[in-house]
Amino acid sequence: MREIIVGSIPEKITYVYPKEGLKILVGCEWDMQSAKLQQPKELVYPTFPIVAGDEKALPKAKMWAEHPYWDGNKSINKTPEVVEDQENKISSIRICNLESRGNGGRAYKVVIDEKYYVDLREDVLVDTMLKSSIKSGFLEGEFIWAKVGSQMKIIRKNSELYNLIMEYQSKANYKPLSKVGLEPGGIYQDKKRNKAVFIGYVNTVQLLQDYPNGKNIWDLRRSGEKAKFKFKKSKSKNTEMIISNALLDQKILSGIGNKYKSEILFLNNIYPFEKVTAFSNDELNRLVINVPRVLKYGYENSGRTRKPKDKEKISWDTTHWVFRRSGKPCWICGAKIISERKLTARPTFWCPNCQPINAH
Ligand SMILES: [Zn+2]
Repeated sequence: MREIIVGSIPEKITYVYPKEGLKILVGCEWDMQSAKLQQPKELVYPTFPIVAGDEKALPKAKMWAEHPYWDGNKSINKTPEVVEDQENKISSIRICNLESRGNGGRAYKVVIDEKYYVDLREDVLVDTMLKSSIKSGFLEGEFIWAKVGSQMKIIRKNSELYNLIMEYQSKANYKPLSKVGLEPGGIYQDKKRNKAVFIGYVNTVQLLQDYPNGKNIWDLRRSGEKAKFKFKKSKSKNTEMIISNALLDQKILSGIGNKYKSEILFLNNIYPFEKVTAFSNDELNRLVINVPRVLKYGYENSGRTRKPKDKEKISWDTTHWVFRRSGKPCWICGAKIISERKLTARPTFWCPNCQPINAH
């Protein structure tokens, strides 16, 4: 569904009108023709209302007000008058005319506050007739100006349109929350009015590629769940750094032990010996976002990184995806898990099928 911006109700209004005013015939054309009514004339001030302080609209309104008009005999020049910052409150509305416009269009003309001659939209007139009333040409009820789309419009308080605008305004006036104020499980709305459930924070890690000059190292264990996620791929100095070593390096990402390194790489389908420079920022960001998830699951499940299947026997072998499982079948594809051939204290384990070279 497309979002419709309903409108807003300005606090103050500026009226712009020609000082000279205009003499109008009061009544509808057909009244004059059929009922042989007198044609009373009245001095009114055709007015261009704008939201007070609207610097863009003011010159437009002035230009409109000073535009010369043809009174039937001659062109009359006008001087614009600006009445600033009126409270948005209309004390009276009297219908005095119906103007025919091109293509069957028409406009109800009203005098508000016994001075300003403005348009009244047909929907507002109908709403007043149905829900309120009109007595001796005066509209009963409270009326105010609203900005609907780009136009100023008189609306009745407590009408459907009014309530819609108020509802919209109350939402638009929501104060922004600081990130600290977010509570997991809460429903929040962004500036574009997209609603979302806040699940929680992820750990922040800054994976710098310019090792060994890494800066801003976050200790995942200490920073808990509250740090803001940020990742920066800086200009690399160490172009030979491979991803499995980067994950282990305490200067780059702390908190990841050897076990988690292998498990994280497996869960992200990353070939462990890929150079860090081969990844795009997006790919590294995705990886870094996933790191705390895996760590959190592990910490909360006594070091287990793989969720056991129903009725599966809990054993060392079922606890991990690849860690210390060389020669055993991959839980996903059945291929044999392998580890580095050379003897090292911190070997990497991976599935050659799920973590192929250049898989990303
Ligand atoms: Zn596999």
